[in-house]
Amino acid sequence: MEIIIGKTAGFCFGVKNAVNKTYEQLENNTQNLYCLGELVHNEKIVENLLKKGVKTLDNINEIPNDSNVIIRAHGVEPDTYHRAKEKNISVIDLTCPKVTKIHELAENFAKNNYYIMLIAEKKHPETIGTKGFCGKNSSIIENIEDVEIAIQCFKESKLSNIAIIAQTTFSVEKFNTIVENIKEKVDCNIEIKNTICNATAVRQQETEELSKKVELMIVIGGKNSANTKRLYDICCKNCKNSILIQNKNDDDLINAIKNKYETIGIMAGASTPEESINEVIEYIKNIGG
Ligand code: SF4
Repeated sequence: MEIIIGKTAGFCFGVKNAVNKTYEQLENNTQNLYCLGELVHNEKIVENLLKKGVKTLDNINEIPNDSNVIIRAHGVEPDTYHRAKEKNISVIDLTCPKVTKIHELAENFAKNNYYIMLIAEKKHPETIGTKGFCGKNSSIIENIEDVEIAIQCFKESKLSNIAIIAQTTFSVEKFNTIVENIKEKVDCNIEIKNTICNATAVRQQETEELSKKVELMIVIGGKNSANTKRLYDICCKNCKNSILIQNKNDDDLINAIKNKYETIGIMAGASTPEESINEVIEYIKNIGG
């Protein structure tokens, strides 16, 4: 049995930075520390932080006045910073620098009277944050079906230019398809900024290649993690035996390993720690003999 582990599997730069800095804060004994949303989509890490006193809450309004709040790598909308200031909450801003760049880009486009089309998943926290920097003259396009409405809103805005930006973890393939569709349907100046993070693009590419050459493809990551789900979707297109698991105790892994596969590929989402990847590899090796 051969196990091939993706070189890009696991924490990306932005997540690693957020996790390391959060643990540094804990060493500094910061009191009343909260995290706005899960720091990473990983149960173990969230549980461990809770044990150390870091509570996860989803809304700035729920966080007590005069406390400390961590902004995770996804970033937040401008209103959250304003609200934190009003409540005298100290912000430990761990927004990934690549996301901050998109916020700056969006603000600049808005200032220069561009209508912004944000190609992104509507409910993703990063999208909600970025949308806040785009201002009112903007639309979120998640699927090709949303293009028509976005163009209608652009026409109603009476602006002359369009700027296109993307969620950092969006599918490269889907982004290109949507951009082509916008270009076909509207005749004006369009500034296209492919802001998909390189770490995401490289990981998706490697997943594509790996899933084509193995009999079983295992994706490790949170089932509520967008970038992990995307990796799983890529695998399903190329390998009929693809599974998405959270950890080594997942039933899907236990069942899949009962079949004696010759080649197994392993990939992990951006919020999966190395420890979880190693546990899965150990488990497979022990069962596989
Ligand atoms: S995927 Fe890229 S943009 Fe998103 S947190 Fe990781 S490094 Fe930053």
